[in-house]
Amino acid sequence: ICTENSLKLNGQVPTQTLYHKNEEKETFEDLQESRKILPVYTVRFRLLEEIKKNNTMILIGETGSGKTTQVPQLIHELRLESSGAIAITQPRRVAAITLALRVAAEMNTEIGSIVGYCVRFEDVTSAKTKVKYLTDGMLLREAVADPLLKRYSFIILDEAHERTVNTDVLFGIVKLAQKERNDKKLLPLKIIIMSATMDVDLFRKYYDDCPVIYLEGRTHPVTIYHTKLKQDDYQYAVVCTVFQLHVSTPANHDFLVFLTGQEEIETVMSNIKQVAKESLGPPIRVCPLYAGLPATKQLQVWKKTPPGMRKIVLATNIAEASVTIPQIKCVIDTGMVKERTWCTATGAERLRVRACSQAACWQRAGRAGRTARGAAYRLYTANDFAARHAHNTPEIVRCPLAATMLLLIATGLDPITFPLIDPPPPESIQASLLLLKELGAIDNEANPKLTILGKKMTAFPIDPKYSKIILCAPEFNCLDEALSLVAVLSSENIFHMPIHKREEALKVKQKFVSPLGDHVTLLNVYKAFCKAPLKKQWCKENYLNHKNLSYAYEIRQQLLNVCQRLNMTVTSCGTAVDQLLKCLLSGLFTNCAWARSGAAGSGGLAGGGKYVTASGSAASVHPASVLFSTRPPHPAILYTELLHTRRSYLVTVSAIQPQWLHQVAPDYARRCRANR
Ligand code: ADP
Ligand code: MG
Repeated sequence: ICTENSLKLNGQVPTQTLYHKNEEKETFEDLQESRKILPVYTVRFRLLEEIKKNNTMILIGETGSGKTTQVPQLIHELRLESSGAIAITQPRRVAAITLALRVAAEMNTEIGSIVGYCVRFEDVTSAKTKVKYLTDGMLLREAVADPLLKRYSFIILDEAHERTVNTDVLFGIVKLAQKERNDKKLLPLKIIIMSATMDVDLFRKYYDDCPVIYLEGRTHPVTIYHTKLKQDDYQYAVVCTVFQLHVSTPANHDFLVFLTGQEEIETVMSNIKQVAKESLGPPIRVCPLYAGLPATKQLQVWKKTPPGMRKIVLATNIAEASVTIPQIKCVIDTGMVKERTWCTATGAERLRVRACSQAACWQRAGRAGRTARGAAYRLYTANDFAARHAHNTPEIVRCPLAATMLLLIATGLDPITFPLIDPPPPESIQASLLLLKELGAIDNEANPKLTILGKKMTAFPIDPKYSKIILCAPEFNCLDEALSLVAVLSSENIFHMPIHKREEALKVKQKFVSPLGDHVTLLNVYKAFCKAPLKKQWCKENYLNHKNLSYAYEIRQQLLNVCQRLNMTVTSCGTAVDQLLKCLLSGLFTNCAWARSGAAGSGGLAGGGKYVTASGSAASVHPASVLFSTRPPHPAILYTELLHTRRSYLVTVSAIQPQWLHQVAPDYARRCRANR
């Protein structure tokens, strides 16, 4: 199905490979050897000179050249950070965790001592920690408590090319902190911006023409294939391509497939396993890799497969640049990515599965050329590729900013004049402030100050909409339920629906189902999970995802700790779950959808029911929802997420009374009616 179009990624063909042939666990000596052949290592002296000489520096290099794992170690080995620690930020938690584990192994120390990591709901650091990997979101939260970030002498903002909102804000925070620490003659702050290949002019200008160091790239040629025809179902195309290649490629060639999210990865994984039972070719090991995956499962990806076996990694765009997976010879790229966008008029957010940029496609293809020449199979046509945007748009210009604005205000910074590298559209800032006002977090929009509620909101490491739910819960007598539900919603999908056992799984799910919708259903599952004595076994029998439920349990503990610090009393609404739904609505009021007139009869979509959201777009209840086949549609529903693929789906929904919106969010209800 493919046409060929050969290219060399950047013309350089290395002579050495990075990886060991033995199947055993890498010894400390092995690790030291593999460090020595990384591009960063060869230029380490020059790099250290530059680091000593400059307070701010930009380091650019191909993925896999050793920036993230080696630069902090080099600094630490020379004790350059003697009076502070080194922070290295990552946009994703999986990356922060795996990189910290890798570096701890390379330095032969326990994780949590010299080397540690800190991601949402998990802090594995101690007073001894000098090399700290953390998500950009966590560093931002630290900045709220200490805007000068005094505990660090080095801050490395990594994966700058990804341009996440949090990293974009940090660019400004560290710049201000550096200046102020300098003015006050405090411990100097050194800043290093690291990135895969990108256009750096913008960054240089922002950091007063600081030096840029380029690392020599090291990639092998990758042959690119495009499909001849447009593929309507890319998940199906993935499975077809995997097996076409599987029977025709040697076993030691591992595959890397780019998909858009956990659910998709799990579906494709189960399909591949199913087909593999009847397929020729070597045995297969399928490894998922996505943001919410627990650390132990992530490490599977880096485990060497026994000879004669093929590893197939199914990843989100996390494998594009943040982490390097060895031995990949074939990349299969759906060319899609899941992106968060929002409607500034109504504050409604949506998740959109859309075509990624050309730059992202090249990054993905490049993963096949890490250790030897490789191939990339693009499940889209050459014309489709040519029609794509060259670069990713920074998240900040398309994303809801309420959470970010709240943190800026809490840090004592003016959200309107804060010097961002790429300022978001003014209407986006205004809309975010309006939303914060309606949530009760700030007193006014022109010169915003945190309210008491707003201040409490910043104590929770979650979106303000969700912290509002928790903080409102005592009013509705349902803090017990609200904590459990927010925890479950902050974890990943707790249902496990293997394709070939779907019917049975659905039947088992029935015993948890509430006619009110998914939220109460989730709560029922969670409560039953807490009571079950043998949790793992129980999850298996009930087609539930044990790791995601356990993760929710941990999250709940942490949220509960914050509530206790705030002196909140935990009470339960018992069977009056209406209270819980109202409480949910007081945070998620932007997420209402109403039955479209005329959809109540047979004109509605088969099985789906038709709704219209606050921003006026038509959407159907997601097939995985317990309200999927409810007819006629409920007059109003509350959804947790709006997912836009080829159609718009309301994900995780509950039936609500239309008048509740006026009761719990009157300002918004008025504005919303004016808009509709
Ligand atoms: P960069 O930041 O320049 O993309 P990294 O420092 O992340 O590079 O990676 C350097 C090398 O370390 C990679 O080539 C990769 O093979 C290896 N590596 C990184 N993380 C792991 C891991 N968790 N397991 C095994 N090898 C790893
Ligand atoms: Mg890196």
